[in-house]
Amino acid sequence: MCGIVGYVGTKKCLPILLNGLKNLEYRGYDSAGIATIESNYIKVRKESGRVSILESLIDNNSFLGCVGIAHTRWATHGIPCKENAHPHKDNSNSFAVVHNGIIENYKELRQFLEEAGYCFYSQTDTELIPNLIHYYYSEEEKTKQNFLNAVFKACKDFKGSYAILVLCKDFPNMQIVAKKNSPLVIGIR
Ligand code: GLU
Repeated sequence: MCGIVGYVGTKKCLPILLNGLKNLEYRGYDSAGIATIESNYIKVRKESGRVSILESLIDNNSFLGCVGIAHTRWATHGIPCKENAHPHKDNSNSFAVVHNGIIENYKELRQFLEEAGYCFYSQTDTELIPNLIHYYYSEEEKTKQNFLNAVFKACKDFKGSYAILVLCKDFPNMQIVAKKNSPLVIGIR
């Protein structure tokens, strides 16, 4: 069980995400992290421990984006530590993902990606998600690259339960969310 929160809008997302994490912290508190997109660059900050520790380490003026995702973790795969904290990025820094749930076939998928040349830096099941999305995204010709299609194809490979929020540096004004057997609520105002 983890807490995930995302925001897409016209306001600076940092305070909204931190507030969301504080409300979700009962779902997991071994580490916390956020990612935002600014000028087609995904910026990540994560840390072991509670949301208040993350908050104390973030310079308010360094995260100015209006699209972002955040996570407060209760580890299922890999010890509680900074490397295993979410968000996780793919090897090319094009995608960032926060995840609630368990990808049951993560060993097979991770092995498949390792054989395709991808490297892993954490012990989580989650880190394969941005890399598998990148794998499908890169399969298509540059002109036809389709973020939604890549997330859709990756989700079809997952066994288990998940709710995920995904950022892509090529689409700085949006995020894609997907769920299967894990809770996810979208609010519009
Ligand atoms: N399986 C992921 C991890 O261990 C997410 C944790 C969870 O939702 O409980 O990082």
